[in-house]
Amino acid sequence: MPSSPLIESRFDAIKTEEPYAMTTIQTDVAVIGAGTAGLAAYRAAIAAGKRAVIIEGGPYGTTCARVGCMPSKLLIAAAEAAHELRHTAPFGVHVDGQIRIDGREVMARVRSERDRFVGFVVRGVENIPEADRIRGYARFIDNTTLEVDGQTTVRASRVPPVPRRRCRRRSRRSATA
Ligand SMILES: Cc1cc2nc3c(=O)[nH]c(=O)nc-3n(C[C@H](O)[C@H](O)[C@H](O)COP(=O)(O)OP(=O)(O)OC[C@H]3O[C@@H](n4cnc5c(N)ncnc54)[C@H](O)[C@@H]3O)c2cc1C
Repeated sequence: MPSSPLIESRFDAIKTEEPYAMTTIQTDVAVIGAGTAGLAAYRAAIAAGKRAVIIEGGPYGTTCARVGCMPSKLLIAAAEAAHELRHTAPFGVHVDGQIRIDGREVMARVRSERDRFVGFVVRGVENIPEADRIRGYARFIDNTTLEVDGQTTVRASRVPPVPRRRCRRRSRRSATA
C-alpha cells in the first residue's frame, strides 16, 4: 500500500488523486451528523470562537424535516381536518353531502411542504463554509480521532468528559436497613 501524505491543517488541505491518500483535518470540535442536534452543536461551537467541522454521511435536511416530525404532523393535520368536518353540527354548522378525501392530493401536499421545509434546512447547511462540511460516515479511531469513509482523518483538540450522573450508592447497611 502506498504511503499516505498527511496534511495537518484544514486550511491547506490538498486534494490528491493518489489512491489511499488521506486528508487530515485538525479542528477544535468535530460534530458527527448534520441533524437538528448536530447543526445546533456546530453553530454553538462557532459562536464560542472554536474551529468546527460537521460530518454528514446521509442526505442533508435532518430526520425531523425529511421523514420525522414535520411530514408526520402534515399528515396528522390532514386527518384532523377530515375529522373536524364530521363534528361541526354542535356548532350549528352543517356539512351536507359527501366528504371526499383524495389520498393522492393529501400526500402531494405532505411531500411538497416537506420539500419546502427540507429546502430551508439544506440552504442553512449550504451557508456553512465548505471547508467545515465533510461528507461521509465517521468512525472513531481513538478518543480524539475520526476517520471519514477511509478518506479523511479528523483530529479534534479534545473530547470533553461526559459528566457522570450522580447517583448515591446505597451502602450495604442502608440497603438492608
Ligand atoms: C415519524 C417520526 C415522527 C417524529 N415526530 C417527532 C415529534 O413530533 N417531536 C419530536 O420531538 N421528535 C419527533 N421525532 C423524532 C425526531 O425526528 C428525532 O428525535 C430528531 O430528528 C433527532 O435529531 P438528531 O439531530 O438527533 O438526529 P438526526 O436529525 O436524525 O440527524 C442525525 C444525522 O447524523 C447522520 N449520521 C449518523 N451517524 C453518522 C456517522 N457515523 N457519520 C456521519 N453522519 C452520521 C445521519 O445521516 C443524520 O443525518 C419523530 C421521528 C419520526 C421518525
